[in-house]
Amino acid sequence: LPALPKVSHDTASAPPRIVVLGSLNMDLVLRVPHAPEAGETLQGHSIHTVPGGKGGNQAVSCARQGAAVSLLGRVGADDYGQALRAALTRDGIDHGGVQTDAQEPTGVALVMVDDAAQNRIVVIAGANARVEVDAHDPELAQRLQHAAFLVAQFETPLAQVVTAAALAHRIGCKVMLNPSPAQALPAQLWPLLDTLVVNEVEARLLSGRVADTPAEAAKAACALRARGVARVVVTLGAGGAVAADTQGCRHHPALAVTAVDTTAAGDTFLGALAVTLADGQSFDAAVRHGIRAAALCVTQVGAQPSIPDRDAVLRSALPPDWIPL
Ligand code: AMP
Repeated sequence: LPALPKVSHDTASAPPRIVVLGSLNMDLVLRVPHAPEAGETLQGHSIHTVPGGKGGNQAVSCARQGAAVSLLGRVGADDYGQALRAALTRDGIDHGGVQTDAQEPTGVALVMVDDAAQNRIVVIAGANARVEVDAHDPELAQRLQHAAFLVAQFETPLAQVVTAAALAHRIGCKVMLNPSPAQALPAQLWPLLDTLVVNEVEARLLSGRVADTPAEAAKAACALRARGVARVVVTLGAGGAVAADTQGCRHHPALAVTAVDTTAAGDTFLGALAVTLADGQSFDAAVRHGIRAAALCVTQVGAQPSIPDRDAVLRSALPPDWIPL
């Protein structure tokens, strides 16, 4: 009898794996005609309680784009914490690495969205401020070993982001950082980064250059690349995004849509970008996919409910071609 063929694992069909370190918040979204002045009492339109936090949002975006996602974070021992875990479970996200804090409450964000779709946000970090990354945790090392990217932001303590990035780098897992809310990077973080995703404000803070137009953003992105980061994206809201790598800089225009709430647009973009890169596609293809996903996000209210899945993105309109800068 002929020997049985060796079982081969079809790695081409395995979903890309991504580890996200980040914040988990319950968002209290108030729709208001306009932001109240000091001393003003305002009748708002509505309130919605929706899962959010940059870490949670980026994890959800990655999961809805088809990745197998593990989340590292921390919630309180309260109802919001349980509700956030339940929401992660519904998206198929592994939250075994989410800790429960006995003292601090789950993070909360008060999000005020006005009739012009502008948002004003107050975040109470709560348990997020006490996330602990154990560089000697074998489970964490194993998660990173199988992951294409570690994704992190700055709503969890900087020292923990550095610890996780150093471990990922040592293991050979690429690090994608979204330094938001804007904060300077500690010197030891720069050489650990593969991809940096910044908005205009973060680009300006990190590069010392105004980055409001595509041409300005390209100069800022070059300055950031000079710090040793292979790929930089500067997102420009309705202006789209600038992508910079060894090939130079390109401006990817946004899709023309009617924005009703831009909450989580950047997080949606980042998730779609990370999964497309992890899938082995080109940087420009990944940025285009991110732009399509983010355009769908801004047409819906709320953070996680507005993050589209892969099929919705693939059905959506194509953005204009990119322009070399
Ligand atoms: P931001 O974090 O505001 O720079 O937004 C991230 C991405 O979301 C941008 O690069 C755009 O692709 C998309 N985006 C944000 N705001 C809009 C908008 N008003 N219209 C279309 N796309 C948008």
